[in-house]
Amino acid sequence: ATMPPLLSAIALAGRHGVLVKSAVVMEQLADTATVAFDKTGTLTGGTPRVAEIHPAGAFTEQELLRLAAAAEHPSEHPLAAAVVTAARDRGLHLSAADDFDSAPGRGVRATVDGRLVQVGSPVLLDTVTGDTDAVAQVRTITASAQAAGRTAVVVLVDGIPAGVLALADRIRHAATAAVAALTELTGTRPVLLTGDNHGAAARLAAEAGITDVHAGLLPADKVAHVRTLQAGDRRVLLVGDGVNDAPALATADLGVAMGGRGSDLALSSADAVLVRDDLAALPAVIALSRRARRLVV
Ligand code: ADP
Ligand code: MG
Repeated sequence: ATMPPLLSAIALAGRHGVLVKSAVVMEQLADTATVAFDKTGTLTGGTPRVAEIHPAGAFTEQELLRLAAAAEHPSEHPLAAAVVTAARDRGLHLSAADDFDSAPGRGVRATVDGRLVQVGSPVLLDTVTGDTDAVAQVRTITASAQAAGRTAVVVLVDGIPAGVLALADRIRHAATAAVAALTELTGTRPVLLTGDNHGAAARLAAEAGITDVHAGLLPADKVAHVRTLQAGDRRVLLVGDGVNDAPALATADLGVAMGGRGSDLALSSADAVLVRDDLAALPAVIALSRRARRLVV
């Protein structure tokens, strides 16, 4: 027996490692007008590493890393995993984190050894009231790390700057070719939407061949950008890992989740899943969708 074209396209997509959730999705992929990418965990491999440790004030490298890693331990963010790995690699013993809380696109906070530890984006520095010398020191380190294309993670202990961790991440090996193929297929250049700083975003975008870059976005800002892209009835496909882009994935016409690192929420609410995290499969399934639709109509 022969399968209907959309169903056989779904089966073929599966062989490319793409789980397409319905025949409707399989058909709509053909109409993708703009592809938007999340950065961390999507265009990058999602296994960043701590490249530099810069303690501030009276903190030592070890104490900075130990406290930051303890606070990050409960987090599922790829940056958190990198901080924990760096601490483990140095044989540091991590105390338990109490009262853990995370703010998507911002960072985490927890009580460690009775001290309040906050780890996250440099926006944290805006909350520091005293100790202007330490703040100035940390801002300088942050600026140079960002200029070098790194993600600067700031650490506060009891509201005082304890230092900066500079994290480096690598572009996924299929990203540049996927961006080129998508530009060719859709006639529109893909867009980058990231919560990371502009320096790190620009460095990665240049490697990927993306020119339309929006950095420093909170989850709600990503939603607003997707809406802007949708203006004029354009169908937007967003690829993300769901760590902080679940609302934007839901807003996009088609939400595609990375399978390897995707959060449970992203995997269950996405329209399609890149099971093997292979970005090259994306243009392949759009092409499959177009072929299937030609057979349907
Ligand atoms: P992207 O949009 O590229 O996926 P995220 O929104 O996940 O990036 O993160 C944006 C920024 O928020 C990070 O660059 C970092 O500064 C901060 N951040 C978010 N979560 C954490 C965390 N668990 N630890 C440290 N920093 C974090
Ligand atoms: Mg992400």
